[in-house]
Amino acid sequence: MTDYKHILVAVDFSPAANIVGKAALDMAHRYQSSLSLVHVVDYLPPLGFGDDFTPSPTLLIDENELLEQGRNSLKKFAAKLGLEDAHQQVLAGMPKQAIIHEATEQGIDLIVLGSHGRHGLNRLLGSTARSILNEAPCDVLAVRIKE
Ligand code: AMP
Repeated sequence: MTDYKHILVAVDFSPAANIVGKAALDMAHRYQSSLSLVHVVDYLPPLGFGDDFTPSPTLLIDENELLEQGRNSLKKFAAKLGLEDAHQQVLAGMPKQAIIHEATEQGIDLIVLGSHGRHGLNRLLGSTARSILNEAPCDVLAVRIKE
């Protein structure tokens, strides 16, 4: 029998995120699993301009500030859905890579995400969902988000 001991929930704060969170909570109850929430701050540090006069955008965007905002939002999201006990992680980078890396590092058995989030509304599967389904080291539940 399939036994999902540790579930990773990918939270992007889109309108679909509540549906995804509730589906993950339901799965966790069924399988008595522990839950981890992950949000990825979709931000890559821009390259500098290579001269001493033009201010680099890296000076204007504070990555730590974005991570802190992400942590606050994830905490509120967890409280709203009754997921306060879940492990919470906010990372910076490309969502698909960061989520797969996190699932591998934590030895996750099941990733729960939305079929769509902020990117792929006009397709059957969004681009993050598609990449994770192709490359995940474990089972993936793509919760169908109706448009
Ligand atoms: P997308 O393929 O980008 O439309 O998103 C599909 C699903 O991937 C979303 O419903 C989320 O579960 C997950 N996802 C997308 N972007 C992120 C992100 N930045 N952080 C965490 N999960 C994400």
